[in-house]
Amino acid sequence: MKQEEKNEALCSFCHKSSQDVGKVVEGPGNVYICEECVELCRSIFKKERLRHYPDGEEAVEANERKKAIEKIETCLRRIKEAQQEAMQLLWEYNH
Ligand SMILES: [Zn+2]
Repeated sequence: MKQEEKNEALCSFCHKSSQDVGKVVEGPGNVYICEECVELCRSIFKKERLRHYPDGEEAVEANERKKAIEKIETCLRRIKEAQQEAMQLLWEYNH
């Protein structure tokens, strides 16, 4: 009986039967999804991700790297400024 139900399972998204589309994955609450619909969902998610991050995930990583480099550069600039200030003070005391 259980096996028979599985064979007749309809994909809840495209309403094709598992006999037409192959294996369907059962979710909670009597819902099923076929491979085609999973692929479709995946492409929708991918498009959505690309909409938020036009250059993809690599761009997000690159952006984070850029931010970190900017932070380091700011620190280095401050060190340089402090060094110049110290040199200036030293020069003033020596002259
Ligand atoms: Zn489907």
